Amino acid sequence: MVAAILRPLKQQLLSFTTTDFSSHLFFFTGNCLWSPMERFSTKSGIDKNKALVAQLQQYGIIRSKKVAEIMETIDRGSFVADGTPAYIDSPMQIGYNATISAPHMHAMCLELLEENLQPGMRALDVGSGTGYLTACFALMVGPQGRTVGVEHIPELVTSSIENIKKSAAASFMEDGSLSIHVSDGRLGWSEYAPYDAIHVGAAAPEIPQPLVDQLKPGGRMVIPVGNVFQDLKVVDKSLDGSVTVRTETSVRYVPLTSRDAQLQGR
Ligand code: SAH
Repeated sequence: MVAAILRPLKQQLLSFTTTDFSSHLFFFTGNCLWSPMERFSTKSGIDKNKALVAQLQQYGIIRSKKVAEIMETIDRGSFVADGTPAYIDSPMQIGYNATISAPHMHAMCLELLEENLQPGMRALDVGSGTGYLTACFALMVGPQGRTVGVEHIPELVTSSIENIKKSAAASFMEDGSLSIHVSDGRLGWSEYAPYDAIHVGAAAPEIPQPLVDQLKPGGRMVIPVGNVFQDLKVVDKSLDGSVTVRTETSVRYVPLTSRDAQLQGR
């Protein structure tokens, strides 16, 4: 009986891994593994965060010990408004027609970029939103590394800086190895280029050339590409400068667009 219940839940979760829903309709329809637990749990935030990471490990979404450690350390609860269910595997609205990505998408991107987020390396997070993944990157590259977030909604930049200051990545903000800037992320951030790792948290109609240019030889970019149908692309620049692109999976992200278009919901 229990197995019969668990099997569909597992299938449901696995199918969820391929899609980063831009609305949290799934939570409200109850189509989520964690919503009943979340409602009745008396665990503290950090314990719930650990339980979330453990579930992602159990379902094979997190395989790397390092990624698990980082996601356990950066408490997702510090990156969403009070009262938002932070510890369920679902994207959540953060205002301005933007969302914090679902934990399984954060995990997948961290796994894809792990080799390029070694201590001392440089990371760029385009469409940094809540700052959650930017904080994870900072923890991975450490104080000798450099992490840059670029986000075009000034209010989100302000709140992301506050979020990070509440998180285990606060010291990187203080020592200046992590910074977040208000800018059009389609242009990248040339000040600290080239980057070992570039993550784009919003779907581009096509891969922006400035981002390819700002990728270091040996570097990797993970970027959702497409409009209605989107693919998570893995862009690798080899040491001779040649670029290869492959598709990891189908996804659904909010668009990488102009500020006006985003605010008008276009
Ligand atoms: N990884 C983030 C994702 C936020 S959603 C998180 O989990 O919190 C995508 C973000 O991309 C939004 O915050 C949106 O405002 C931002 N965005 C969209 N187009 C952009 C652009 N051209 N330049 C910078 N940020 C952009």
